[in-house]
Amino acid sequence: MRINVLGVGFDNLTLREAIDRGAALLDEAGCHYVVTPNPEIVEVCRENPEAMRAVNGAALVLPDGIGVIKGAAMLGTPLKEKTPGIEFAMGLMGKMAERGKSLYLLGAKPGVAQQAAARLKAQYSGLKIAGTHDGYFKEDAPVVEAIRESGADCVFVCLGAPKQELWMEKNGPATGARLLCGLGGSMDVFAGTVERAPKFWSDHGLEWFYRLCKEPKRVGRMLRLPLFLVHVRQEKRSRK
Ligand code: UDP
Repeated sequence: MRINVLGVGFDNLTLREAIDRGAALLDEAGCHYVVTPNPEIVEVCRENPEAMRAVNGAALVLPDGIGVIKGAAMLGTPLKEKTPGIEFAMGLMGKMAERGKSLYLLGAKPGVAQQAAARLKAQYSGLKIAGTHDGYFKEDAPVVEAIRESGADCVFVCLGAPKQELWMEKNGPATGARLLCGLGGSMDVFAGTVERAPKFWSDHGLEWFYRLCKEPKRVGRMLRLPLFLVHVRQEKRSRK
């Protein structure tokens, strides 16, 4: 059963369990997608019913950051641990490399996905990169066709939220891939164009603060974080 945090149902898994489940989905019939909402995305979903439907329709809904973990605990329904999208993706790539599965990289500015592909191939020996495409395209059809032709088992979709969730819900089955993962800014990290917060910051639940210092223009979006906590408090009161 999923844990409901302001309407988004999160799977209650450890990172290891999430990776195992993701890897298992690569062998299950049909098309599945994974989402990794943070408080900001939960707030977007509250305002946008289509985004809420796309997020809750995922095969795996993983809490990306400490904010969702805190929110779930405040509501009296704790989640096991945070499962950052990027760490889920890293674990999954390890499994795909072992099993010779192929990965398509979709998203970010032109050139970034190719750069990520080169670095990931070097990092995960055995990982097959089926193809890459930037995230600034006008029409879905040619991109869907390119993925289908590549024969990819899995697609990392990095278009930002809620664009990537809506894209996966709509186009996932037509790509022919078994699994799609919505991973936001992870492509930039894989390519080495954006640094991930050092361990100290993420261990102390301050990854968001690190990102804010690096990219001050995120401040508007990050105002959704206190709003999330206000909404969690309101929800807690209304459940009593
Ligand atoms: N992006 C994209 N197409 C778009 C809008 C965004 O490919 O139409 C990319 C953008 O270049 C970045 C990623 O999507 O690489 C979103 O990053 P952001 O930091 O917003 O995502 P988060 O990790 O916060 O979800």
